[in-house]
Amino acid sequence: MTVERKRLLILGTGFGAFALLRGIDQRAYDVTVVSPRNHFLFTPLLPSTTVGTIEYRTIIEPVRRRCPGAQFLLAKAVQIDLAARTVHCQSVVTDAVWEQPYDVLAVAVGCVTNTFGVPGVEQHAHFLKEIEDARKIRHTLVVNLERASLPGTSEEEQARLLHFVSVGAGPTGVRFAGELFDLLRQDLPRSYPHLASKVRVTLLDSSQSVLNAYDEALRDYVRQEFLHRGVTIHTGTRVQEVTDRGLYLPNHEFLPCGMVLWSAGFARNPVIAALENEKDRSGRLLTDDTLQVLGQSDVYALGDCACPTGQTLPQLAQVAEQQGRYLAKSLNARGQRLPAVPFRWKHWGTSSFIGGAAAVADTAHTHAKLSGYWAYQQWRAAIWTQLVSVRSKVLVPLDRFRAFAFGRDISKL
Ligand SMILES: Cc1cc2nc3c(=O)[nH]c(=O)nc-3n(C[C@H](O)[C@H](O)[C@H](O)COP(=O)(O)OP(=O)(O)OC[C@H]3O[C@@H](n4cnc5c(N)ncnc54)[C@H](O)[C@@H]3O)c2cc1C
Repeated sequence: MTVERKRLLILGTGFGAFALLRGIDQRAYDVTVVSPRNHFLFTPLLPSTTVGTIEYRTIIEPVRRRCPGAQFLLAKAVQIDLAARTVHCQSVVTDAVWEQPYDVLAVAVGCVTNTFGVPGVEQHAHFLKEIEDARKIRHTLVVNLERASLPGTSEEEQARLLHFVSVGAGPTGVRFAGELFDLLRQDLPRSYPHLASKVRVTLLDSSQSVLNAYDEALRDYVRQEFLHRGVTIHTGTRVQEVTDRGLYLPNHEFLPCGMVLWSAGFARNPVIAALENEKDRSGRLLTDDTLQVLGQSDVYALGDCACPTGQTLPQLAQVAEQQGRYLAKSLNARGQRLPAVPFRWKHWGTSSFIGGAAAVADTAHTHAKLSGYWAYQQWRAAIWTQLVSVRSKVLVPLDRFRAFAFGRDISKL
């Protein structure tokens, strides 16, 4: 007797979707994935690719190869029609549009970077969410170094080109500053000896501290360490406008710079914003404890774009990944008439690299707050454990060794 498989439609190929995809039983589900990205991206190492410590392809996993049997469509969901049980899709490589039907829907589309409506951000700032963003940052970095090396470039223009600003002093901004610091210390003296001492890094944040989500002692450690390295930190500063030559701060103060990284926070994905279902204060879709969207049978939401009612979950890879695994398990167990087990997040702790063989780590189980070298070792171990394939577990240490032994590749391609 053949059992008819339910059509499971998964939106996204991020942490939540990829964990679900890897865990789902394809004998029970006819799986289709719709995503504008045909690979999974290990975002915790994305800042390391902006300066060439890690290579881009090391931290991606092609979805088709990792999940054979599932149908993959390179497209984005533009509208979810919950009443008709279809998703309106639009190809990202052609003009094709179509409606994709489903029996069971899993929405894991993540969120987008919040520009807070600040003029000029879209046009002039860099984001750091996708491989393409990291490529653009690396390109700008190299082009600025080359422009600053040209004869006739004034001292003032050199200073501007070599000033890199991160708007947002959260984990992304801090890690980027850390990676830049390593590049400056280890590679620029060899490749650009005349410029190495002229590079400046500034971290700006509208809140009162760097790494706001961390313990006070760890925040102080990062601040002291960065000040010691010559990184300028402006907290409590709201950027008014970004231009192609720098940014405006309050009171019309202009800060000239050659590159702005915008990592100031998250905003709702437009496809989530368009849904009229209940959301939390930050615009995430509300679900019940089994990740089912409130009032919508067979529609689930997970990761950064959703939150179970009554739980306060941070927007972290470990949350999305645990939810993906949980959902796969509970969908696979359907038909066994087992009572639904509610989703509970297990906090594995958080850590952040800050450059120069140093990090900060907040371990969840022992509540220990580590900083410096041992936190760095813990961060590396945590990252290595979370990598999703043997291939990346081999390539990440190899890339690090290559960068250490032969220098980072910052050629202009
Ligand atoms: C630079 C950086 C560093 C980070 N470091 C850490 C870290 O060290 N530790 C940690 O825990 N977290 C970290 N995070 C956060 C972590 O990446 C997110 O919490 C996690 O990726 C959320 O997983 P997700 O599945 O919800 O969404 P994502 O992983 O963002 O995936 C969303 C997916 O949906 C797809 N998508 C988007 N729009 C559509 C659409 N309309 N239709 C279909 N598909 C769509 C996207 O292409 C993507 O495949 C970091 C994030 C960044 C940007």
